[in-house]
Amino acid sequence: MRSANIRFSARSAAILLVILAVAATLAALWGLAWWAFGVALGGEIIALSWLAFEAQAGDRRAQATRLRWRGQGRRERRLLAQLRDVRDAVSSLPDAVVLLDRQGEVRWFNAAATRLLGLRQRQGERPLAGQIAGSELGAWLQTDMRQPATDMPAPADASLRLSVTMMPFGSHLRLLLARDISTLSRLEQVRRDFVANVSHELRTPLTVIHGYLELLDPEDAPELAPVLREMRMQSQRMGQIVEDLLTLSRLETREALPDEDVAMPPLLETLRREAEALSQGRHAISVELGTEVHLRGSLHDLHSAFSNLVSNAVRYTPSGGAIVIGWRQRADGGATFSVRDSGLGISAEHLSRLTERFYRVSSSRSRESGGTGLGLSIVKHVLNLHQARLVVESEPGKGSTFSCVLDASRVLQPKNSEASGDDTPAT
Ligand code: ADP
Repeated sequence: MRSANIRFSARSAAILLVILAVAATLAALWGLAWWAFGVALGGEIIALSWLAFEAQAGDRRAQATRLRWRGQGRRERRLLAQLRDVRDAVSSLPDAVVLLDRQGEVRWFNAAATRLLGLRQRQGERPLAGQIAGSELGAWLQTDMRQPATDMPAPADASLRLSVTMMPFGSHLRLLLARDISTLSRLEQVRRDFVANVSHELRTPLTVIHGYLELLDPEDAPELAPVLREMRMQSQRMGQIVEDLLTLSRLETREALPDEDVAMPPLLETLRREAEALSQGRHAISVELGTEVHLRGSLHDLHSAFSNLVSNAVRYTPSGGAIVIGWRQRADGGATFSVRDSGLGISAEHLSRLTERFYRVSSSRSRESGGTGLGLSIVKHVLNLHQARLVVESEPGKGSTFSCVLDASRVLQPKNSEASGDDTPAT
């Protein structure tokens, strides 16, 4: 813009010079004629006015430019300050934040990432997996990271526990967030220990009470018979609650279960027999065996989870109803164990909470049927330990289907001799 001012001033000066030259020539030709001076003077005045106008316009333009520059500079400074504030805020977060590029190389990290993950500035833009190799988090980074890392030791300090999330950031970056959950983890441990200890302590006195109640004969005091019956029932219920709580505590402390070859056809037959015993002929119970494949997992725990589902179906299906125990392989190579009943059903608002401890759709119905409110919680824990999930479909008044969905990695092909063995149940 400054060069434009100079251009305008030069043009004005040139015009002025032309006018002066013309005036001087005329004056020379006609010998200082008064009108020649008049023309020269007039031209000079016009040229000077133009010059003044140009200079003023140039000044205005230059000032506007200066203001714009100043405004732009101020905006840039403000943006830079904001950027610095954001970076300082992220730097001082108690959670570790690591920015990774497409190749998994570290682009940036905050101070907490040094404390929790052991990252150092001088290590530069090296792959994160290499910097924390050998740690549980390093192993998790090698997976597809679909299973969340909810509780693992911090690579820099094994006494600290972390919950880690990986999320996409921008078009090709990723952000790793690691939260220190050590306090939460300790509290959770205290809760687990408390429940396990209380359950364990209650077990012995309950066994004693139950034993004495068994010794009492209602016929000796017929007027006390109803009281005795109720006391036996309640002590049995308490015993069952304690056993279920101990089962849950044991499952919670386990990180993995034994990998056994669980033959499903005979297990389904056992479940059918158990259901018949519980039903006492009140229901039509059948097995739908769609496949002979086996499962890789803990026989004891899978049996406990599946029989909880079968016992629920019997307890929540009125007499005359039907119960179908199924085992089939899916197109993706995985397999599904299911229990379908034509019972009471569950309305939609309860479905998401069924696996919570002591959650009951109807407390009175559960108590009447001898439930502890812990059955589905046990099922969920057992399935988690097998990387499987529980799917519940239900409609009030029509019945429910509880399905245990297992990955292809859990499915085993039976050895020929077993597949054609005598254990294959009748369907
Ligand atoms: P409970 O010992 O009370 O049966 P569970 O954890 O096994 O506890 O089940 C939780 C609740 O889910 C039960 O109280 C019951 O209301 C409901 N429920 C479970 N299975 C069924 C079913 N097959 N049909 C209807 N309701 C069911």
